[in-house]
Amino acid sequence: MKARRYVLVAFVLLAAALPLLPVPEFWITQANYIGLYSLVAIGLVLLTGVAGLTSFGQAAFVGMGAYTAAYLTLTHGVSPWLTVWVGLAFTYIAALVLGWITLRMSGHYLPLATIAWGLSLYYLLGNIDALGKYDGLLGIPALEFFGLTLNTGRSFYVLLWLIVLLAAFGAIRLLDSRTGRALRAVKGGTTMAEAMGVDTFRLKVTAFVLAALLASVSGWLFAHFQRTVNPSPFGLNKGIEYLFMAVIGGVGHVWGAIVGSTVVKVLEEQLQDWLPRLMGTSGNYEIIVFGILLIVVLQYARDGIWAFVEARFPKPPRAVDWADAEPLPHREQPPRGEVVLDVQGVSKQFGGLVAVNDVGFQVRAGQILGLIGPNGAGKSTTFNLITGVLAVTRGKVMLRGQEVQSLPSRQIAARGVARTFQHVKMIPSMTVLENVALGAHLRGKAGVASAVLRLDRSEEQRLMREAQQQLQRIGMGERMHELAGNLALGPQRLMEIARALCADPMLLLLDEPAAGLRLKEKQALAAVLRQLRDEGMAILLVEHDMDLVMGLVDRVVVMEFGTKLIEGTPEEVQASPAVRAAYLGTEH
Ligand code: ADP
Ligand code: MG
Repeated sequence: MKARRYVLVAFVLLAAALPLLPVPEFWITQANYIGLYSLVAIGLVLLTGVAGLTSFGQAAFVGMGAYTAAYLTLTHGVSPWLTVWVGLAFTYIAALVLGWITLRMSGHYLPLATIAWGLSLYYLLGNIDALGKYDGLLGIPALEFFGLTLNTGRSFYVLLWLIVLLAAFGAIRLLDSRTGRALRAVKGGTTMAEAMGVDTFRLKVTAFVLAALLASVSGWLFAHFQRTVNPSPFGLNKGIEYLFMAVIGGVGHVWGAIVGSTVVKVLEEQLQDWLPRLMGTSGNYEIIVFGILLIVVLQYARDGIWAFVEARFPKPPRAVDWADAEPLPHREQPPRGEVVLDVQGVSKQFGGLVAVNDVGFQVRAGQILGLIGPNGAGKSTTFNLITGVLAVTRGKVMLRGQEVQSLPSRQIAARGVARTFQHVKMIPSMTVLENVALGAHLRGKAGVASAVLRLDRSEEQRLMREAQQQLQRIGMGERMHELAGNLALGPQRLMEIARALCADPMLLLLDEPAAGLRLKEKQALAAVLRQLRDEGMAILLVEHDMDLVMGLVDRVVVMEFGTKLIEGTPEEVQASPAVRAAYLGTEH
């Protein structure tokens, strides 16, 4: 555990000492390129590794920063310490527009859009007279810093690597925050994040813009390092290379970005040296080797080089510093007996299939309603209609008297509806505690800036305290530091319940919470649900374990083939011949 810290300190010390050591100038030049690349790759770690969004267009954002700096200093004599902000402003607008248009659409639009963006900026730069067309701009002045001219590799190195380390630590802080957890949740589908109240579209745009801004800073530095710019380092080739750096280093890890940049830079150098000799002609053959390597890495070492380091020097568990944190405020709960959820004649049609057909029921505060029925009866679909994951075809969903069926999932969550999923949705690479804290997303406010500046710590402690308490309540307190991905199915389900409870809901929807639980765990779960009911929570429970359901719930709704078969007390339902018929052959 300590070893990790030593490795990190050793790295920072080495980085700091390098320009003082009598190493050849070539090394310093290489290290400078690595630093420039690392800035871009750190952005890609956030964007691609963490949020799961692929961009081939980062080189174009580097180009924006570089050309803005070059043009303004050369033609208008603007100070570089101003041009960096102009470059950032341009990049911000470009990334915002590009992200805004494409991130609404699913899947492959972003990669395609970034390819188009990367290509078009390249040709644009190459065709503007004022920017020197394909020859570019020459004679960019060196940066000056408190009277010092950074015109040597070594002096430039100091400023550059200071910025790289700031960016790296900033990214690490961001990932270890409310926003960082939400960002991780975006990867692999937005349903769960939205159910926790996360505005996933906004968050994706934020990640895209942040990555672009880091690239832009890299471009600004690049212009003053090379002292000349031309379009070729900002083309699509380079965009692919940046992505390659992030992937090979370990796309989910900030330090992986630096490792990946180093590997690619060194490899590129060697390949450019050797390949033309081997092939007998000159050309950009290294890009072919990179392509093959990328496929190999994706096939055999998906998590990149840094994953090996991570396995050897695991991150120490989060220090428990929240014991004295102030509890989070609670929602005002509806009075016991009030109708919290009123489902009125909802239907859902998937093409020709009517999955839910004119179903209605009510759940009151301080009551557990069981929703049972054979597989395929439409129970999970009903959950999705209530929580806004799916749009109703017909009918109304009322929460405390207000229609919510046309609201997005996160706004329904904000009104006090929390849920679990039949197929557990979690972030395997985060600890149990962090997964659960995601449930309290709407009870915090801290955003990117406060995370990076560490102004979010007291809020963070309050969130962690809440998460730990909910885990303890559900009997999982001991396991809070484990990686969620290492849990068996039963504990995963319990973790989801703790996460839902973190939202401080008035209505809790549980989709088959006892599946995969042992008897003891089931009994403990039943006790927690009773306690929640006694505290006045409204609970809707889908469950196949009849002993659990019948012994726990106040009322039961039975569904079959999308329709409501019967509603009544557990006794009434158990006595019904229709229910027995429905369950014969499908359930026991
Ligand atoms: P239950 O949870 O009661 O087992 P579901 O609500 O999951 O049932 O499914 C009800 C029916 O709707 C099933 O026939 C299922 O195949 C279908 N269904 C569920 N979701 C979708 C979907 N997104 N697209 C098409 N059909 C679906
Ligand atoms: Mg289901």
